[in-house]
Amino acid sequence: MSSLSLYDTRSRTMRLFVPLKPGQASIYLCGATVQASPHIGHVRSGINFDILCRWMMKSGYSVTFIRNVTDIDDKILAKASEEEMPWWALAIKYEREFAAAYAALNVLPPTYEPRATGHITQMFELLNILMDRGVAYAPGNGDLYLDVRQLSSYLTLSRQKLDDLLTAGDADDSFKRDPRDFALWKAAKSGEPSWRSPWGSGRPGWHLECSAMAYVYLGEVFDIHGGGLDLIFPHHENEIAQSEAAGYPFAKLWVHNAWVTASGEKMSKSLGNSLQVKELLKQVRGIELRWYLGSAHYRSMLEFSHGALEESSTAFRRIENFLYRATEILGHMPVPSLSQDFIDAMNNDLAVPQALATISEALRVGNGSITAGNKEILELSANQIRGALEVLGCDPFDAAFVLPEGKDLREALDGTIQLALAERESARGRKDFAASDAIRDGLIALGISIEDTPQGPRWSITHPEER
Ligand SMILES: [Zn+2]
Repeated sequence: MSSLSLYDTRSRTMRLFVPLKPGQASIYLCGATVQASPHIGHVRSGINFDILCRWMMKSGYSVTFIRNVTDIDDKILAKASEEEMPWWALAIKYEREFAAAYAALNVLPPTYEPRATGHITQMFELLNILMDRGVAYAPGNGDLYLDVRQLSSYLTLSRQKLDDLLTAGDADDSFKRDPRDFALWKAAKSGEPSWRSPWGSGRPGWHLECSAMAYVYLGEVFDIHGGGLDLIFPHHENEIAQSEAAGYPFAKLWVHNAWVTASGEKMSKSLGNSLQVKELLKQVRGIELRWYLGSAHYRSMLEFSHGALEESSTAFRRIENFLYRATEILGHMPVPSLSQDFIDAMNNDLAVPQALATISEALRVGNGSITAGNKEILELSANQIRGALEVLGCDPFDAAFVLPEGKDLREALDGTIQLALAERESARGRKDFAASDAIRDGLIALGISIEDTPQGPRWSITHPEER
């Protein structure tokens, strides 16, 4: 098993990852609030944690990865009335857009992807525990609040002092024991969706959802809780408050990814639609956008610019073309392997920039080996580059990238058939007609017919009725 170190936000230290159960890793990541089309700031978190999951799986862990969908929330309700559609229709519309964006960027589906609205009864169970323990209270306005003054470890993740916290200053504050107490359950408002609870009709607070779903799928304690930096306070702080107040140890390690910034600022709606994933995918391929978004260290801000995206895509195509060239020369696809330098970089808090440096070096050596005609070195370099790209989710031979796009699929098929035809030519050249016929028959059996022309063999897909 690996010796992976990760930076733990709660202890502010680098910590060796020691799983609760040997060989297994349990991870909860706060997923999207599905109220708008995904932009690159949203999916960066998905990519960062996908790299973590892939690295853990590569290191031999069996990974249980939960990424929730927040499908009920103030923002969803506001957006639904703006777009004049039911809130659930809006939620599923954007949930599907997120799923499409993740798929285009080769982010592996989580083990489970629970929706908040599917776990209301489990939220009641958690609320019951908090009420029984006397840490939650119902002041009579239909809301339930958590009494934060009772919690000794409140705000230890964000390292703030309770008395320094600004209060929301809203009308509900007069009902609270302390204005910093936060809502676990919100009383029904007219025109808004609500569920009947033992404490009256209402809907869950956002923080409650994640505490409940983490418990359902990962239990009282699990290895890693992740999310974007902006979730540290109040969301993660309040998740800890609820779960610990219920008596659960909760997450052992807290991992947070930094933002994508544009002109130095956190991406926001004011930047318009140009940084939506679906818009950028009109300019670059999914694999190139993923490469760019995954290239910075997950704890570093990624300053977006179209120029940087272009440059990064060009650099990626050089690596990709090297792998295609190596495949032609070697006569087979590179077999993924990992260099020790790459392994060390990834184990060091997923140091992707250092990992990329090992790819650049392997590329330099590999290109040199083509010039020098050294197939052994070429094969080693190509294998290590493909192995590294696989961990980063950017393996150009990955069916996720090859299959969904018609153009790529056609090119890949053409390349594969050309390789078979080249083998057939060389068999004919050495008068091994048994071998050349076997290749031809094999292609015909796959529905590919070959026509020999003065310009060389041409292939086409046989109409099913002609077979
Ligand atoms: Zn959450």
